[in-house]
Amino acid sequence: MIEIACPNCATDEHLTGERIEQKIVISCSDCGLSWERPAVPHCSACGSTDVVAQPVPVIERSRGTQMSITAMHIETLCRVCDAERLAERGQGHLPPALG
Ligand SMILES: [Zn+2]
Ligand SMILES: [Zn+2]
Repeated sequence: MIEIACPNCATDEHLTGERIEQKIVISCSDCGLSWERPAVPHCSACGSTDVVAQPVPVIERSRGTQMSITAMHIETLCRVCDAERLAERGQGHLPPALG
C-alpha cells in the first residue's frame, strides 16, 4: 500500500513501488516519473532512525521558461546532525525550538 501521490501529476492511482535494498523505487505510469523513498530511513552519519525524509524535486529547465520535474531526490535529514538545516527549512508542524 503506497500512501503517496505523484509529485509531478498528483495521481495516486498509477503508482508502483519496487523495493530495492534499502530503498523503494516508485514509478508513476501516468507521467513516467520515478523517484526513491528510503525503505528504512536512517542518518548516514550517526545511524539514528530519528530522521526526516524530505523529497527534493530535481527540476530541469527545458527550452523557454517551462520547468519540469524529472526526478525526486530524497534527502534524509537527521534531527541531531541536521538540526540546523531542519530548523532553517521549517517543518511547520514541529517548532524548531523544541530540540
Ligand atoms: Zn505522475
Ligand atoms: Zn545523525
